[in-house]
Amino acid sequence: MDNWITKQAALIPNRIAVDNGRQKLTFKYLAAKLMQLSGNLNQLGALSGNRIAIMTKNSLLGYQLALAVLGSGQTIVWLNWRLADDEIRRQLNDSRPTRCLVDDSLWRDSFDDKFVKFSQIYHMKAKPLKLVTQFDPNAVASIMYTSGTTGQPKGVLQTIHNHFSSAIASSLNLGVMPNDEWLCAVPIFHISGFSIIMRGLVYGMTVRLVPHFDAQSIDKILRTEPVTTISVVPYMLKKLLNLRDRHSGNYNSKFRCMLLGGGPIDRQTLTRCQTYHIPVVQSYGMTETCSQIVALNDEDAATKIGSVGKPLFLTQLRLADPSHEILLKTPALTPGYLNRPKALNKKKTADGWYHTGDIGYLDADGFLYIDGRIDDMIISGGENIFPDEIESVYLSYPGIKEIAVVGIESAEWGQSPVAFVVSEKSLSTQSLMTFGRRHLAHYKVPRQFYQVDHLPMNAGGKIQRFKLKKWLAEKTTG
Ligand code: ATP
Ligand code: MG
Repeated sequence: MDNWITKQAALIPNRIAVDNGRQKLTFKYLAAKLMQLSGNLNQLGALSGNRIAIMTKNSLLGYQLALAVLGSGQTIVWLNWRLADDEIRRQLNDSRPTRCLVDDSLWRDSFDDKFVKFSQIYHMKAKPLKLVTQFDPNAVASIMYTSGTTGQPKGVLQTIHNHFSSAIASSLNLGVMPNDEWLCAVPIFHISGFSIIMRGLVYGMTVRLVPHFDAQSIDKILRTEPVTTISVVPYMLKKLLNLRDRHSGNYNSKFRCMLLGGGPIDRQTLTRCQTYHIPVVQSYGMTETCSQIVALNDEDAATKIGSVGKPLFLTQLRLADPSHEILLKTPALTPGYLNRPKALNKKKTADGWYHTGDIGYLDADGFLYIDGRIDDMIISGGENIFPDEIESVYLSYPGIKEIAVVGIESAEWGQSPVAFVVSEKSLSTQSLMTFGRRHLAHYKVPRQFYQVDHLPMNAGGKIQRFKLKKWLAEKTTG
């Protein structure tokens, strides 16, 4: 297929491709700029292999360099700038890019000469290089390491075809309008952010790039700029809602979709969204499927609160029997993990269904509800318990700011739930238990409550339950 960037430059040269609040670049300008950057990368020797790593915040230059890599027919290896030196080294040893391009603001003294600052590339004046005319659908456009919620990150290969299928499926659910502008406050090195960039190219849509999530400034943009869509993860939504409680001004009249995904959300939060008439679209997806493959639509958002919706066009979904694990077939599914040729096949049935590792159920109308991850499930006296349900209940307990529930070995029950809570005041275990018994089946009430300063989170803001389990195991044995 045609290179999406040059194609849009030919089709809609004057439409804005990207806007960072200070500068707006048209598709035509972008294509010309990328030729210059591609020439500069070539002079650096970066195009001599087939992969280039990028470590960036959501900056305009990071966006352009990523597209220069893509437009030159190369693979982007996305690095999460929050990672420690050792973690970065492991991902680079695994992916072996020619060079690693780094946002100046993220430079570290520990970096060797494989790393090169954005400003250095930007100021070079090499001979511009033509972008490739065609995108090979099977070419790997990007490699993205899983967030490591449940263990070691793996490099997910994402092809042009995967990204294209994902963008098309999303458009058939949400629609595409000529004035669409998608606010990207989620990191572009995660699939939540990069998929916005890819949709921008496929739809010819403006991406409104913001450097990082700051609730005040996002709220202001949503009120004062013609943004139509934003992608958020649960903690962002909660922060934006807190501001809605205080602000009177509504979001701009063109705003039509707040796409929510990435992790579980409690019902109270969704109900608050309804109070403010915020058009939340719940979705479910993962790095391996190039973002959402299941989503709610407008019509069902009010009646199917708590559901993540139905499989989008192109995606088939079924539940394994008897485990209820969510199984998928979708053209957005990765062809595999980098350097682990057998790892994906281990997660697939003989006839090609991909095991997501998540458990859920379908209601009578075919709407999907997520219970949680298999790895997090607690089996107590033969009953399955999902931490998400218990956590969601306890989030309405006065004073609890955060909570994580994990299973602990129990001689009597096999496993029992215990909770880690973050609160500014000291909480009474007795009243926590009484509260639990009022709202939950007896076997779901945590047997112990540990009050902690903070919960272990990965860079994407997800709770790393395996660290809590390890701590508990060490406590019991040691
Ligand atoms: P790792 O695979 O390294 O453990 P990860 O699975 O957290 O990391 P991602 O691909 O970013 O990395 O996250 C996808 C996972 O997030 C899904 O498999 C699911 O467990 C969870 N998730 C995504 N959307 C939702 C949602 N709407 N509700 C509940 N869970 C969700
Ligand atoms: Mg995963």
